[in-house]
Amino acid sequence: MKVCVIGSGYVGLVAGAGFAEIGHVVRCVDIDKDKIDALHRGEVPIYEPGLDDLFERNKKAEKLTFSTDVGPSVSWAEVVIIAVGTPEREDGSADLSAVIEVAKTIGDNIDGYTVVACKSTVPVGTNEKVRMTIAERTDQLFSVVSNPEFLREGEAIEDFMHPPRVVIGTTDPKAEKIMRSLYAPLYGYYDAQDRIICMDPRSAEVTKYVANAFLATRITFINEMANLCEAVGADITKVRIGAGTDPRIGLYYFYPGCGYGGSCFPKDVQALIRTGKANNYPLTVLESVDGANDHQKLAPFRKITERFGGELAGKTVALWGLAFKSETDDIRESSAIYIAKALLDAGATLRAHDPIAISNFRRLITDKPTYVTDMYEALDGADALIIATDWDAYRRADIAEVSKRLKGNVVVDGRNIWADADLPATWQYDGIGLGHLK
Ligand code: NAD
Repeated sequence: MKVCVIGSGYVGLVAGAGFAEIGHVVRCVDIDKDKIDALHRGEVPIYEPGLDDLFERNKKAEKLTFSTDVGPSVSWAEVVIIAVGTPEREDGSADLSAVIEVAKTIGDNIDGYTVVACKSTVPVGTNEKVRMTIAERTDQLFSVVSNPEFLREGEAIEDFMHPPRVVIGTTDPKAEKIMRSLYAPLYGYYDAQDRIICMDPRSAEVTKYVANAFLATRITFINEMANLCEAVGADITKVRIGAGTDPRIGLYYFYPGCGYGGSCFPKDVQALIRTGKANNYPLTVLESVDGANDHQKLAPFRKITERFGGELAGKTVALWGLAFKSETDDIRESSAIYIAKALLDAGATLRAHDPIAISNFRRLITDKPTYVTDMYEALDGADALIIATDWDAYRRADIAEVSKRLKGNVVVDGRNIWADADLPATWQYDGIGLGHLK
């Protein structure tokens, strides 16, 4: 099948390389010329484990090509996938301008019956808007399908190749058949019956938000219980297992830490809150989740401030972890952004490290932090260490080396990666919800 993926970011590139890998001929397009030039040169502009291999293999086999010419690519394709960004507007709603822009280009260029599948996360009713936008500009037959994406950055290839489910929102049997054959190579016959789930477009749109809002709520709930553990002298690392091993609860997305970030949860929770308001149904649980998460992001900052008696001016803090989670270079809404800004505002000096996300972070907070590429070097002369991302390199760090390089003895572990480690007795170590240590 000839597939055009519009928007070659985290979702578009993974989907493009993934569809090529399972036998389709894919053209990834983007308006960002630098990105497409890099892709032509064979450079993958994002860090995603396993993507390089898929990319190289399919580019070489000419099953995966790239272009900035959106129009001709649309005319060429049988299936057009919209994977452009839908960032948060100032009022919390989703900015749909790129999606609508793309819909116009599709309307101007489709040539013969085309399925337009929207992978971008969009509020309920958007697929209908996309359909109307295209219809205003063409007499060609087409169908707009909601096809929300559930991949996790850092595990995106695995998620694409072995998705627990594929959601297809359409009432058009022809479009459903085409979408089913697009994904069919991922599944055996019986699995495909169970795992490719078809529904009406509005339900598909809502499904995506429900999934993200629920996961954000789980994380926020366990964070709140962690904070309670601190107040009552309990250990959240034990509590989460004690509660989460109940199959009705489960252990996934049930880790306490310094808040969720990333390109999806924060903006999708906000957008769903907006949808609730617009429909006279305030989503009070999600409003609390959103506020509690903002507060949680700064937990390591509050802990450090307390350790130093409220005075951070003149202190040097090492910050390990800038990406919003491990195995990605994505820093969007990362807790580290909020922690770094608060530390700098309080007059601290910052030495920052991340295995992969330094260049993205530097674009956001340019001059102030000293960025170092060796994680131990970040500790040189530092009074304290904050761990904000659970990278394996930090988990496996040489504690003796950390102790030697760190000038002070304050360690705040925002991801509890050393909660069970044998740490020097001289350290003032704190995590999230480790009330038994107090
Ligand atoms: P991204 O910012 O990484 O990529 C978006 C790309 O679209 C950019 O390369 C941009 O240049 C391009 N673009 C913007 N306007 C365009 C236009 N008019 N024509 C062609 N290209 C254009 O975004 P992303 O993280 O890949 O997310 C894309 C969508 O998928 C969003 O709606 C997001 O919520 C959703 N989503 C993201 C994830 C994730 O983990 N990143 C997971 C599931 C769903």
